[in-house]
Amino acid sequence: MDVTCHGWKNKIGTKNRECKCGSWKNHWINNSGKPWPEKCSILGCNNDATLGAHVYNPNVSGEKIIPACEACNKRTEEFSLKGGVTLVSANKQKTCEK
Ligand SMILES: [Zn+2]
Ligand SMILES: [Zn+2]
Repeated sequence: MDVTCHGWKNKIGTKNRECKCGSWKNHWINNSGKPWPEKCSILGCNNDATLGAHVYNPNVSGEKIIPACEACNKRTEEFSLKGGVTLVSANKQKTCEK
């Protein structure tokens, strides 16, 4: 099993972060090269994906953006991701502002 599916947490205090994509949802779309998924990326959640959430994992270098729902974006406990979720770097210097 892919270890990077487990142990994810929301990055707190990212509400006012911006990038030139206009939204973190657009940031994900621009940098993943994939269509926006219908559903939230978090395992066990069946809500529609409405936003790009800032997440991090001690086993993964750098903060990532994933498609998520409003409720999951407020989670404070650890969560797991569904299989096949595309992680986009939240580092603007490596993505939209490179
Ligand atoms: Zn961007
Ligand atoms: Zn969700």
